[in-house]
Amino acid sequence: EDGGWFDLNEAIRSALRIARIETTQRADVQAQLAEGLLVRGSPGPVSQVFVNLLVNAAQAIAEGAGRRGEIRVTTRREADLAVIEVSDTGPGIPSELLPRLFQPFFTTKGSTGTGLGLSISRNIVRRLGGEIAVRSVPGDGTVFTVSLPARPLAE
Ligand code: ADP
Ligand code: MG
Repeated sequence: EDGGWFDLNEAIRSALRIARIETTQRADVQAQLAEGLLVRGSPGPVSQVFVNLLVNAAQAIAEGAGRRGEIRVTTRREADLAVIEVSDTGPGIPSELLPRLFQPFFTTKGSTGTGLGLSISRNIVRRLGGEIAVRSVPGDGTVFTVSLPARPLAE
């Protein structure tokens, strides 16, 4: 239901399960989830955002040096925002590509990529009043940060 609140961890855990086959083949997955973060909307679309980010992370690690990587998911409260980070130890993203990452159909995966995952994810996050950002150090890895309005703590 649209005006309601739900437990962010429910959506994150669901995404971790859905993406598990893709992620665990290539990476160790660590999750550090803060309790008590309630966000608006329904878990399905929010879960879809994190499936997209987790699958991208796994695919990036696979395209990297071939060694096993790490994917880390963390959540925390920052005032009235829930801040979620998905980081990977993949090859990273050249800085000149960063401005195009969220454009529909931008992909570096040839015919195996749709280039829609990040575009759809940003639409979902923005519809919920949040934002998604990326930072990356080529050779080091990539961090996607999603922030969503969280139910304020009682005073
Ligand atoms: P697709 O996965 O179909 O290519 P996305 O919209 O999910 O489309 O991602 C767009 C592009 O962003 C990818 O093709 C890839 O070049 C880049 N990208 C996304 N996530 C990562 C990541 N974690 N590490 C490196 N590159 C990434
Ligand atoms: Mg993708």
